[in-house]
Amino acid sequence: MKAISVIGAGTMGNGIAHIFALNGYSVRLADISPDALEKALAAIRGNLDRMIQKERIGEPEKARALANITTFTDMGQAVSGADLVIEAATEQEALKKKIFADLDRLAPEECILATNTSSISITAIASVTQRPEKVIGMHFMNPVPVMKLVEVIRGYSTSDEVAHAIMELSRQIGKMPVEVNDYPGFVANRILMPMINEAVYALYEGVAGVLEIDTVMKMGMAHPMGPLQLADFIGLDVCLSILQVLHAGFGNPKYAPCPLLVNMVAAGKLGLKSGEGFYQYAAGSKELVVSPRFRK
Ligand code: NAD
Repeated sequence: MKAISVIGAGTMGNGIAHIFALNGYSVRLADISPDALEKALAAIRGNLDRMIQKERIGEPEKARALANITTFTDMGQAVSGADLVIEAATEQEALKKKIFADLDRLAPEECILATNTSSISITAIASVTQRPEKVIGMHFMNPVPVMKLVEVIRGYSTSDEVAHAIMELSRQIGKMPVEVNDYPGFVANRILMPMINEAVYALYEGVAGVLEIDTVMKMGMAHPMGPLQLADFIGLDVCLSILQVLHAGFGNPKYAPCPLLVNMVAAGKLGLKSGEGFYQYAAGSKELVVSPRFRK
């Protein structure tokens, strides 16, 4: 596999483009929003600079990685000649089905179609294509350049050949792939999201403040980041969508999203990407300030 197309240039799409470009793949990065593409390139440049500061790469690797990325707003152009497409667009089933129906029409016949979905059924997404054996989940973790895990999710019809190719490709870009089956939330979010939801409930019920909840989990459980800060980094809208998928998929009330999370998303407080979630963020910075609203 040489040519990789990434559909969606948000938080995850730019990280996926970064890691493939750095590993010498030709990357075609597409988004419906030209603004998102510009922001993605700026984020990739910034993240490559951070790697230079940490002496993990030098200026020549940065220049080569950036030269490997081309941006598109036209999906047909973006996937022409692709060996693999990785879709990382907004977490909505109807949107992903529309994108996969288009990809099936536009991408080369042999091309593997992967989705970075956090929770939506791979089998349901594959069902809108004529190539369900070539559809697979490739669930990267945020931030992609840093986190080692790729959850590789086999849909009901995914072939062994495609699953092996994606496991091997993930190793080639320095990741640790883990193969799982296609049930709501897969493994990562089936376990992570109930924890985040419980942390939001603890805040909602006044058990403790934002900082206290996060400190308990960081200092007591050795988590590198508290669950509320992690939710801000993931995006509160993304967390809400995943909980809704778990709730609908299992029909179990234990997955019902906390009303505070629902309200925050409705108010446009989406976490780091909107500048405010459980914490506030200075523009363009990951530095957090505890939101006074949520102090005990
Ligand atoms: P995001 O909101 O940051 O970015 C989504 C991008 O998709 C936006 O730039 C949007 O313009 C673009 N988009 C929407 N419709 C499109 C279309 N038809 N064609 C092309 N681009 C389109 O979202 P994100 O956090 O990067 O999440 C993307 C996917 O990755 C979701 O499926 C999400 O569940 C998954 N994911 C997210 C995280 C996380 O921590 N944020 C982690 C793992 C997986």
